[in-house]
Amino acid sequence: MAGNPQLSRIRNIGIMAHIDAGKTTMSERILYYCGRTHKLGEVHDGAATMDWMDQEQERGITITSAATTAAWKDHQISLIDTPGHVDFTAEVERSLRVLDGAVALFCAVGGVQPQSEQVWRQSEKYNVPKIAFINKMDRVGADFYHVVSRIENVLGTNPVPVVIPIGKEDSLRGVIDLIRMKAIIFADADSGTTFHEEDIPADMQEEAEEWRTNLVEKSAEQNDELLEKFLSDGELTEAEIMKVVREATIARKIVPVYCGSAFKNKGVQPMLDGVVDFLPSPDDIPPIIHAHDEENIRHHSSDDPMSALAFKIMADKHMGKVTFIRVYSGILKAGDTIYNASKEKNERAGRLLRMHANRQENIDKAMAGEIVAVVGLSDTRTGDTLCDKNHPIILESIEFPAPVISISIKPEGRADNDKMGEALHRLADEDPTFTVHFDDETEETIISGMGELHLEVLVERLRREFNVACEVGRPEVAYRETATSPTDGDYKHAKQSGGRGQYGHCYLRLQPVEPGHGFAFINEVKGGNIPSEYIPAVEKGVIRAMEKGPYAGYPVVDMHVTVYDGSSHDVDSSEFAFIEAARVCFRNLFMKGSPQLLEPVMSVEVSAPEEYMGSITGSICSRRGRIENMDDLHGQKVVRGMVPLSEMFGYSNDLRTMTSGRGSFTMHFERYEAVPFSLAEEIIKKRQAENKIR
Ligand code: GDP
Repeated sequence: MAGNPQLSRIRNIGIMAHIDAGKTTMSERILYYCGRTHKLGEVHDGAATMDWMDQEQERGITITSAATTAAWKDHQISLIDTPGHVDFTAEVERSLRVLDGAVALFCAVGGVQPQSEQVWRQSEKYNVPKIAFINKMDRVGADFYHVVSRIENVLGTNPVPVVIPIGKEDSLRGVIDLIRMKAIIFADADSGTTFHEEDIPADMQEEAEEWRTNLVEKSAEQNDELLEKFLSDGELTEAEIMKVVREATIARKIVPVYCGSAFKNKGVQPMLDGVVDFLPSPDDIPPIIHAHDEENIRHHSSDDPMSALAFKIMADKHMGKVTFIRVYSGILKAGDTIYNASKEKNERAGRLLRMHANRQENIDKAMAGEIVAVVGLSDTRTGDTLCDKNHPIILESIEFPAPVISISIKPEGRADNDKMGEALHRLADEDPTFTVHFDDETEETIISGMGELHLEVLVERLRREFNVACEVGRPEVAYRETATSPTDGDYKHAKQSGGRGQYGHCYLRLQPVEPGHGFAFINEVKGGNIPSEYIPAVEKGVIRAMEKGPYAGYPVVDMHVTVYDGSSHDVDSSEFAFIEAARVCFRNLFMKGSPQLLEPVMSVEVSAPEEYMGSITGSICSRRGRIENMDDLHGQKVVRGMVPLSEMFGYSNDLRTMTSGRGSFTMHFERYEAVPFSLAEEIIKKRQAENKIR
């Protein structure tokens, strides 16, 4: 599409799916039908257009979230790739934040698999309207109606077929369009991409009528006027049905359901019509609001001041840093100086690009509602707001969980040393759940992330994209520590050694707070007992003590610290003396407040045939896990439970052995919980022996 589209003709969508449900194949088909790519590349050829990185193709999972723009029936569709693997939750959340609607893909045999459920729930959190596509209808065991009922029961939603399949497995021929009451028959050859319309087969007429009534009834429930008309006349016009389905979908009262086989080129075009007909344009969603000021809003309109959110940063070999943004309001022109309100810095948007599957299009401006890539932003990170400096706004920034697992990493050769540092920082720029730090004591570079696979993938990227060879240590759990009872007291740091002495003295109150409530520093010193210029030093001392906690040498979390009194000396007081006083005071008080070690606990889902259930539940319990529930899924059992991360190392091998390779599992970080006391003592003893506690 040349130029910029009208707002109502934009669809920013994502495809959400369980790994292997066919997301890559579907994305590639969509881009093919949208006329932007001209060769059908199969996933197994490794030629799928959406897979940016070699590695994704090798592993067969989609890791990064790139945005690709295509056109369908006079609409601009931007496809935002949402990763299916829950280790990359931040990527999923980030993409859900900027899309307006989604296609949820399910396997016609596998149905609602554990990860589809999780991504679904995340999308509900962001109020994303959805349509569903039941894929792989050509596979043996495909059951459209069963999957529809699973979507209803497991996901607690209201799926409404707008097409039903004609035939299944080998004899899948096409679908019946329940709105137009026509049969759409797809070309039979595997490589065929055409279809023709014909009358509904006589033996399916009745079934189609029933499903059409279901569609109209469920969709019209939201529209009193049309519901009444339907109840009295028994019929609505095509245009009226389109209207009620669209309204109900956007209001998230129904989920229109499509089906077919992406692989066999069946059913994709009707679904693309569904994207255009039923998923919202930016025009249909509420205005966007300042994260901390409800009065400050931007309408999805090019007439409002410019605002945009950076949701993805990629390092491109040729262009350098590429920032994917969603423009919410106003117009962004190439070459504009814009304001990064999150960092309080000006930035220059050098080039603007619309990314297509196989080419990049330079554009001179991006309008409200569009998703584009910007080259030239140096300080912008994922989650930052970019806006018009005269009309600053901070769009709700995305909250990312803190990393739960760390490994040490070291370059193989000297030449890799500098390259590694730079590459790690580039990767950390792209991914807010990935952090890098240098441990002064052990002189090691430590990288931290959301799971073993997450770090494995990043180390792999170091090797492939940045040509850095490195060795990694054993993964270690990122423990935290906190106190469980409030304490208060003072410490005086006073030294008289020859010349000028040192004098700092403070009273602190330590208050443990609810998990996740973080750190706060409160100053209640009266009458200048600690001169105000030294208060920041007290805070610094506290923060320093919290970085490596006194209990086990791990970061201290969830404490509010108040300085409420102290004293100073005219000559001997200094910043350093107050830092020391506060640091030691905090350490002493913390140890009196019944300290506790905290560990990341993962929510784990294991699926396997029923005969292995005994060993699987046993394996969870023996890992200090709790079973939460069990479910049936197509002859498989799914066990859900909570297990400490430290007990999950090596689980994939154990599970493979236990189930002769027939079991699979997924896990993601849920929350921090206290480590049982005796175990905590053991961990601490070990760390003392390694000199890791000061
Ligand atoms: P992703 O992991 O969700 O991106 O799934 P892929 O697109 O990589 O597909 C996983 C596997 O399922 C690949 O081997 C595909 O060829 C296959 N596949 C995808 N769609 C279909 C389909 O409609 N029918 C059948 N039989 N196989 C499919």
